[in-house]
Amino acid sequence: MEPLRSLILAAAGNDVIRRVAATAPGTRQIIARFVPGETVADALRAVKTLAADGRCATLDYLGEYTRDPAQAESTVRTYLRLLDELSKQGLSGHAEVSVKLSALTVDGDRVLAARNLGLVCEAAEQCGTTVTVDMEDHTTTDATLGVVGDARRTWPWVGAVVQSYLRRTEADVAALAYKGSRVRLCKGAYAEPADVAYADAHAVDLSYVRCANRLLEGGAYAMFATHDPRLVGLLRQRTRWYGREQGSYEYQMLYGVRPDEQRRLAAEGETVRVYVPFGEQWYGYLMRRLAERPANLALFLRALAIR
Ligand code: FAD
Repeated sequence: MEPLRSLILAAAGNDVIRRVAATAPGTRQIIARFVPGETVADALRAVKTLAADGRCATLDYLGEYTRDPAQAESTVRTYLRLLDELSKQGLSGHAEVSVKLSALTVDGDRVLAARNLGLVCEAAEQCGTTVTVDMEDHTTTDATLGVVGDARRTWPWVGAVVQSYLRRTEADVAALAYKGSRVRLCKGAYAEPADVAYADAHAVDLSYVRCANRLLEGGAYAMFATHDPRLVGLLRQRTRWYGREQGSYEYQMLYGVRPDEQRRLAAEGETVRVYVPFGEQWYGYLMRRLAERPANLALFLRALAIR
């Protein structure tokens, strides 16, 4: 991994930098580019804006690695309220939710994670939409896929996420590549050691393409999460080669990243889903976005300096 990227990702876990960032007035502008707001109402407003030009959303209430039971409970309640509002406002056809298990549980407790995921899935089912379980750092991969697998026995539509930078992912994809299985394929956003992850960007891309082929071949509902123009071009060829109709797979991009490309794909009839994070705990999320595009780092550092 490039040194700058690892440095920024290390800062994602640094409490001092987090506190400075949270109080610097200039950071608001940078946050607003990637996070439409802190409340359920802000998230719903973003869904309506996206729906107006044919884009769908997956809503993520920000938070991760929770250590406080009250915080985990409050996260679950927010998801239930969000799903209720999606239903009441007739938006469930336009949006699903994304959850991080480390935000739904405390100190990695797997039983609590499964129970709380179940509550969110029940609410999503009543609302007529779906849930995708984000993938976090590699120490959580087995537990996350295990919880998703258990949840799929009751709610087969629960989405799994795989990261092409992990060496293990092709094997995981082989098990997930079956008809109707909803699988988000991304490159991966965490700082991972070389024994578990490819360090070379080209190797990550090649792994991405191998995993994409496997998902398309196996009949999975593939959710291609990438902004990479080369990969998007290639995926468009692969979906045709496998005879996939539009709507039997989708493209996913992050809120605030390549919005013109999102609109262009949607205008061509592709299903495009935008990952919309909202809430107060934006710090770790923002740092991962900065690590992906260090050009944005200059903006962030300037924002920290503005008083
Ligand atoms: P990169 O290798 O970052 O970029 C490739 C090219 O894409 C760049 O050269 C540039 O041309 C273009 N590009 C990238 N960013 C920008 C930008 N800001 N502006 C303009 N062009 C740009 N990661 C996880 O670990 N777990 C998850 O659960 C997860 N869920 C995700 C869900 C969605 C919907 C998306 C889109 C990403 C998710 N990620 C997740 C993050 C993902 O793993 C990558 O870190 C992130 O998407 C960056 O990788 P990339 O494929 O866009 O390509």
